[in-house]
Amino acid sequence: MKPSIRPDLESLAPYRAPQPEAPVRLNTNECPYPLPEGFANDLAETARGIGLNRYPDREATALRKGLADHAGHPFDGVWAANGSNEVLEQLLLAYGGPGRRVALFTPTYVMHAQLARVCLTEVVTEPLDEAFRLTERHAEHVRRERPELVIVCSPNNPTGNAQDPDAVAAVCEAAPGLVVVDEAYAEFGGASAVSLLPRLDNLAVVRTFSKAFSMAGARLGYVLTSPEIVEDLQRVRLPYHLSSLTQAAGEVALRHVAEAAELLDAIRAQRDRIVQALTAMDGVRPYPTDANFVLFHPGRPADEVWQGLLDRGVLIRDFSTLAGTEGCLRVTAGTPEETDAFLRALTEVLA
Ligand code: PMP
Repeated sequence: MKPSIRPDLESLAPYRAPQPEAPVRLNTNECPYPLPEGFANDLAETARGIGLNRYPDREATALRKGLADHAGHPFDGVWAANGSNEVLEQLLLAYGGPGRRVALFTPTYVMHAQLARVCLTEVVTEPLDEAFRLTERHAEHVRRERPELVIVCSPNNPTGNAQDPDAVAAVCEAAPGLVVVDEAYAEFGGASAVSLLPRLDNLAVVRTFSKAFSMAGARLGYVLTSPEIVEDLQRVRLPYHLSSLTQAAGEVALRHVAEAAELLDAIRAQRDRIVQALTAMDGVRPYPTDANFVLFHPGRPADEVWQGLLDRGVLIRDFSTLAGTEGCLRVTAGTPEETDAFLRALTEVLA
């Protein structure tokens, strides 16, 4: 006999982007480069010295001190977890829950709604404007709806554009509760909401090591917010949630920020090259982006273009059935060779 799942989860599909085998994988917005050599050697050396027989530091003190220095933010307002997804889940566990609501501005990162659902939090959505921007209208929406939680994504996934910090500040001022800004892609461009932190005590800015730090496999994310909010997150986190290996990986990464940053320029150059090339293609419309990916309308049925690219060994992501990005595809900026392969395959498919 199969045990019965929570009835409200019966219709919930697991979050799973299609992952067919392909030599060129431009579908999940990772960094295309392995860790720089000095960084990898330091990590290996550091890992050898970890006493794995003991539980990790529950408070991840050394890592959080490093993050505080890196971000120029007070230590007791920094918290870390297994990827920014776990940080977001902890925020929803602490501030969502039965009878409470979270406001999302769509189209956006679909995990926000999925995490809300798992955390029994009702979702209220309001579309972004026609250029996927957050505006005064969204602050009005929040003032009217009074959700306990608001999540803004900037740069927004899958659209790519960063939101104006003034619009984010207006949402914070309108909100009766917590405003989370998911900045998973902030290192690639666009203005950050971090500069608003000193004057807004209901703001939490979530970041990750998965993208700009080349460490998607390490699963490390963090939040910059107020000490009171960090205390609330400590109520819902599992004991020893962040392994010694993960904490050490983050500490090592912070010693190699400059090397990781060198890769950012290369990735931005490929992103800009993709936008330029797509703009020049007949009928293809790329959207402006501050992230390491480009959303575009291929001017043909998206599923056919997606399949045509896959047949040529290039895997990208189909967003054509998401409300607000109908007909669109999203491609991650990879290495120059990967961009070559993508543009060559797309030219063939559209020919
Ligand atoms: N936020 C956004 C907007 C993302 O696109 C992603 C990754 N797809 C995440 C958060 C989660 O990243 P991670 O858990 O690897 O930090």
